[in-house]
Amino acid sequence: MPGNGMNMPLKQHLIDPEICIRCYTCEMTCPIGAIEHDDTNVVVNPDICNSCMDCIPVCPTGSIDEWRVVAKPYSLEDQYGWEELPDQEDLGTDEASTGLEALDAEMAALLAEAHQGAGGKARAPASAAKPAINTYTIGKPAVARVQGNYRLTDDPGHDVRHIILDLEGLPFAVLEGQSIGVIPPGTDAQGRPHLPRLYSISSPRDGERAQYNNLSLTVKREENGLCSNYICDLEKGAELRITGPFGATFLLPGDPEARLLMICTGTGAAPMRAFTMRRQRTVGGKSGGMTMFFGARAPESLPYFGPLSKVPRELLDQHLVYSRHGKKEYVQDRILAERAKVADLLVDPKTHIYICGLRGMEAGVEQALTDIAGSIGQPWTGLRDTMREAGRYHVETY
Ligand code: NAP
Repeated sequence: MPGNGMNMPLKQHLIDPEICIRCYTCEMTCPIGAIEHDDTNVVVNPDICNSCMDCIPVCPTGSIDEWRVVAKPYSLEDQYGWEELPDQEDLGTDEASTGLEALDAEMAALLAEAHQGAGGKARAPASAAKPAINTYTIGKPAVARVQGNYRLTDDPGHDVRHIILDLEGLPFAVLEGQSIGVIPPGTDAQGRPHLPRLYSISSPRDGERAQYNNLSLTVKREENGLCSNYICDLEKGAELRITGPFGATFLLPGDPEARLLMICTGTGAAPMRAFTMRRQRTVGGKSGGMTMFFGARAPESLPYFGPLSKVPRELLDQHLVYSRHGKKEYVQDRILAERAKVADLLVDPKTHIYICGLRGMEAGVEQALTDIAGSIGQPWTGLRDTMREAGRYHVETY
């Protein structure tokens, strides 16, 4: 923890319990085991944390990025007891304020490095608009109204819904690629309110319907899923509490010349739909420069199968692949089958890659890209790191 000199104030790394969705990604990422959790909160051990910042870019909500300058660090016990973060305490002395300024400069430099994607960390496209984040929190959620709930799939065992939420008069600025939290009603086994679950937004920034203050989600009903069943059963007119928006890196480049290689499975198509609609609304009938590889079990379980077939090929070059319909095929198989097209995208410095969906596909997709990049004399890991540092390589898998 910076500032451990004698009589120096300390800058302590904390996690905002009001925003954290308890996904534990930070805990899994921390290389020195400084983050832990109980049934209530995720906390940072001040005796271990060395402010390496590895946890900052992986947090989907931004709740990890909280700092307080303290005379004495908050203990783990303090942090486990919090429902919200304490305000910055007034340290009151000249010595403390000088120390504070020095620490602020030190932390600002570390944070800038973490957010910039040094060492291959996630970074937003250079030309992306600046996202609003955490406008609404667990303590102060927004109330949205269901405007529509439509079934997207014909497969009885695979219920995927298109949910349209009306924000009515509430300011809720989102960008394509961001997510929101949905708070299921009721309490957990300990009698505490449920925490929000995260869902990618599948509509563009100007609304599901252009110029309306609404947004859409693509939600699959999971067996025994508390929140997915709650959402999939919501009727038109019902109110629900939402938090966010979240996400500062998986964003659409504003550059209309940027080419997009979008690779997704199942409901991982949600942000790709938002990207496609944004491009469709902004470039119209002109070439959208978008190529999509989209994997599903069969046409009847592929979300947006009907609407996708109406998107012009010049806007979106789409490759829909099925694992349980005819010959089994995964997205990575089709990427290899289309190697010339993919190679052309890989060597273009205007190409951005987006991968979203099942975690399991990541290895197969990486292997396919390794094979194609290698065959054109561009070792994939070097190319990928260059793309990532330029904010052109984005992965969101669950
Ligand atoms: P799904 O229908 O279970 O799977 C979609 C397709 O992916 C199926 O054809 C499946 O084939 C295939 N697949 C399975 N393993 C694969 C592998 N190793 N490589 C390539 N393809 C593979 O998908 P889903 O139920 O909609 O789930 C989508 C996932 O995306 C969920 O885990 C969800 O949480 C996640 N998601 C992530 C985000 C995000 O990151 N923002 C957003 C939305 C959803 P088979 O099953 O036939 O093997």
